[in-house]
Amino acid sequence: MKDIVKSRVTEEHEICLICGWRFADHTHHLICGISNRDFADKYGLTIPVCAICHNELHKSGVAVRLSKMLGQAIWEKNYYKDLYYNLNRDEDEARDRFRELFNGNGSYL
Ligand SMILES: [Zn+2]
Ligand SMILES: [Zn+2]
Repeated sequence: MKDIVKSRVTEEHEICLICGWRFADHTHHLICGISNRDFADKYGLTIPVCAICHNELHKSGVAVRLSKMLGQAIWEKNYYKDLYYNLNRDEDEARDRFRELFNGNGSYL
């Protein structure tokens, strides 16, 4: 049986992370490609997206490359978070601080 963890990228699991549509019905694996899909599922490196944004994303080599970079960055962040801080997985002090500093109450993730 496959090991699938819910997204550790965003807490909004039904909103398209690209356009904000409220009925995201696709899952994009940040580190994508057939050989990486299970890895991405296992570590929650997935984002909710709508079908239109998902299609656009995969058409762009730049977007796919940025997606993989984001996947790696999130994996590395979670590695240290899990190793050094015994936090509830949903708590994210760094994200709260980012929101304060960069865009008020908004967030990209
Ligand atoms: Zn969308
Ligand atoms: Zn995808």
